[in-house]
Amino acid sequence: MSIDVTGLTKTYGDFVALDDVNVSLPTGQLTALLGPSGGGKSTLLRIIAGLDTADTGTVSIEGMDATRLPPQKRNVGFVFQHYAVFKHMTVAKNVAFGLEIRKRPKDEVAARVDELLKLVHLSQFAHRLPSQLSGGQRQRMALARALAVEPTVLLLDEPFGALDAKVRKELRDWLRRLHDEVAVTTVFVTHDQEEALEVADEIVVINEGRVEQVGSPDQLYDEPANDFVMGFLGEVTTLGGLTLRPHDIEVATSPYTAGAIEGSVHRMLRIGFEVRLSVLTVDGEDASVVLTRTHARSLGLVEGATVWLTPATGAAMVPSMQSSLAG
Ligand code: ADP
Ligand code: MG
Repeated sequence: MSIDVTGLTKTYGDFVALDDVNVSLPTGQLTALLGPSGGGKSTLLRIIAGLDTADTGTVSIEGMDATRLPPQKRNVGFVFQHYAVFKHMTVAKNVAFGLEIRKRPKDEVAARVDELLKLVHLSQFAHRLPSQLSGGQRQRMALARALAVEPTVLLLDEPFGALDAKVRKELRDWLRRLHDEVAVTTVFVTHDQEEALEVADEIVVINEGRVEQVGSPDQLYDEPANDFVMGFLGEVTTLGGLTLRPHDIEVATSPYTAGAIEGSVHRMLRIGFEVRLSVLTVDGEDASVVLTRTHARSLGLVEGATVWLTPATGAAMVPSMQSSLAG
């Protein structure tokens, strides 16, 4: 229970950016705040950091009420998407900055900077200027700088958002390993579900200022609390008034499964090893189904074929919004 947020509400004029948010982020964990743009993730992170204040509610860090503490007394380190670096200072000087303003002894600073640059694999670039680094290297420098003062909490707001897909993927693997090495409580904002699923111990899904669900990547994927979480974490379709994943639908070419829904294949598309079907059901739903090419071939599927669909055993399913509105 390193960071406890209770009853947090934040409004901008009439607009409710955070609506009674309650979350508990355990010590040493890597937590992702995941959700669509404008959902309130950065607002929550800024309030945890002390860069913004809530209208109501409390933030406690390591059991201490931090609600009214200024940022520098919260012992948090941060990294943002567009990180402000000191352009005229070398990489080593940038990393040393926080320690130097705290007037730590010179040899202690030098040793710590060495250690940090090793940790982020930038030792050989210590004497370069930030402009001589790649985007990914610059974000690693930013992380080293944030870690220099040994924060108890590390807050990262879309730290890799501005980088290209390949570099982002490398950095996310690297962040996971770094986190395991330094074991600092980390909160990581992202709108990218794959990033969250791959990196985080726990994910907090935030949408329209509210927490939709908190859980491990597996829990969220396998047992989504609602239609929104399910749709945000992966592709979904509708069958029999339920929202489920296209690869969780079983296809039969005969009607002998109890409760199977009849439909006809109106589109069949092969992409690599998968086949994607669009099936118009007798209920008037247009269900998407994904199966392997081998499986589709063994069923002898063609466009126009009549098929019977059932949710696979153990499939994640939630009532779909549309049908609950209609009902
Ligand atoms: P996210 O990080 O999830 O994309 P934010 O927390 O940045 O979302 O923003 C949540 C909502 O609050 C957005 O609709 C945004 O426009 C609004 N908002 C954020 N900061 C301000 C501000 N200083 N003034 C007015 N509205 C703001
Ligand atoms: Mg944001």
